[in-house]
Amino acid sequence: MNYQNTLAFAKESDEKDPLKNFREKFFIPQHEGKDCIYLTGNSLGLQAKTTSKYVQQELDDWAWLGVEGHFRAKNPWMPYHEIFPKQLSKIVGCKENEVVVMNQLTVNLHLLMVSFYRPTKQRYKIICEAKAFPSDQYAFETQAKYHGLNPADAVIEVAPGEGEHTLRAEDILSTIEQHGESIAVVLFGGVNYYTGQLFDMKAITQAAHSVGAYAGFDLAHAAGNAELHLHDWNVDFACWCSYKYLNSGPGGVAGAYIHEKHVTNKDLPRFAGWWGYKKETRFKMEKGFDPILTAEGWQLSNAPVLSMAAHKASLDIFEEAGMERLHEKRKLLAGYLHFVLNDINSRQKERVLQIITSSNEADRGCQVSILMCKNGKQIFDELIKQGLIADWREPNVIRVAPVPLYNSFEDVWRFCSLVNQLIG
Ligand SMILES: *Cc1c(COP(=O)(O)O)cnc(C)c1O
Repeated sequence: MNYQNTLAFAKESDEKDPLKNFREKFFIPQHEGKDCIYLTGNSLGLQAKTTSKYVQQELDDWAWLGVEGHFRAKNPWMPYHEIFPKQLSKIVGCKENEVVVMNQLTVNLHLLMVSFYRPTKQRYKIICEAKAFPSDQYAFETQAKYHGLNPADAVIEVAPGEGEHTLRAEDILSTIEQHGESIAVVLFGGVNYYTGQLFDMKAITQAAHSVGAYAGFDLAHAAGNAELHLHDWNVDFACWCSYKYLNSGPGGVAGAYIHEKHVTNKDLPRFAGWWGYKKETRFKMEKGFDPILTAEGWQLSNAPVLSMAAHKASLDIFEEAGMERLHEKRKLLAGYLHFVLNDINSRQKERVLQIITSSNEADRGCQVSILMCKNGKQIFDELIKQGLIADWREPNVIRVAPVPLYNSFEDVWRFCSLVNQLIG
C-alpha cells in the first residue's frame, strides 16, 4: 500500500477496510466523552459488547438450574470446554485434539514443563530468550531448582548483540547447535512481549529437534495476533493467555496445545486431575489415572464456566472476522504505524525515536515498540492525559499494538500525530 501521513488517508483506509464494522462490536474506553485511542490490546483486549450476554446466560442457568446446569444448561457445563477446539485450532494452527482451554497461562506453562522438561544428567538445559516475560523466567528458574539444578547452569538465555534490541535468528540457531545434546527443551515466546519480535517458530522447532530436544512456545503475545501453524511446524507444546489479543477479560481462562504425537502417550509424565481422566469412566471415580487421549488429558479441574463464557463471546467474533482477513489488516495497520513514525523521524533534525520492533513484516505481529530518544516518560504521560492508552516499559519504551479487530487507521494516525506534537 502507498501510505500517506494524513488524516484523510487514514480515514479513506478505514472506509475501505472490510473489517471496519467490527470496531462496533467492542466497548471502547472513554476519555472526556470520546473514544480513547486504545493501543493496548497486547495487554488487555477490549470487551465485546456480547460478553455480558454470554456470561448472563450461564448466571441464569445457574440461578434456575443449580447443579443440573452441568447437563441441562443451554451450554451444558460438564463438557463446556469442548466448544473451544474448533475455533482455537484455526487461531493457533493445529488439530482439534491438540488444544484445550484450561487454567491460566503460568499454570499451563508449569504443567507442560512437567511433561516436557525432564532433565537428565546429560540433557538438562532450557534455551530461552533473554528478557523473557518475568513469569516465564520464574517458571524456568524454579523448574530447574525443582529438579535440583542450578538455574545459572540450566537456563541459557539468547541475548541480542551489542547495541541491538532484537535477537538474530542465526544466534538462536547457533546457540541451540552449540549446546546440542545438553538441551532438554527450547522454550521461547512466540512474540517477545517487550520488543514485539516474532520468532521463527518453525526454524527454532527444527533446530531443537535436530539436537533431540523438545520445542515449546509461550504464545501470550502471539495467539490471536501472529499467524501460527503449530501442528505443521511440529511444535511439541505451547500455551497462551486469553486476555491479551483474545479479548476474554482480565485473568481469563488460558489455553494449551500439545502435538498429536504426544497426546496419545499415556506414559508422558504429568500432574493430573479428575478432569483429565477418561470421560467414559471418570465418574466411576476409581483409582489409577487414565488420561483422555487428547490435549484434554492435561486438564486438572472442571471448567470455569463464567470465564469461559467471556472467552466464547470473543472467539465467536474471531470466527466471524476470519483469521485471513485479520492477518491482512494487521499487516496494513502495523505497516502504517511504522510508516508514519518513520515519517515523523525524518522531519526532525535529530532522531527522536527508534522503532525497535523489526521493520520486516515476517518478524513482527501487531505490536510496535518505540524507544524514545528524549523525554520519553514525559511524552508518554502527556499522551495518556490526552486520551491515549498505551503501555510504558522502563527505561524508555512505549509499546503500542494496533489490533485489527477494533483499531483503525485513524487510531494509528492520531497516535502518531500526538507524538509528533509532543516531540516538537
Ligand atoms: C502476559 C504474559 C504472562 C502472564 O501470565 P499469567 O499467568 O496469565 O498471569 C506470562 N508470560 C508471558 C510471555 C506473557 O506475555
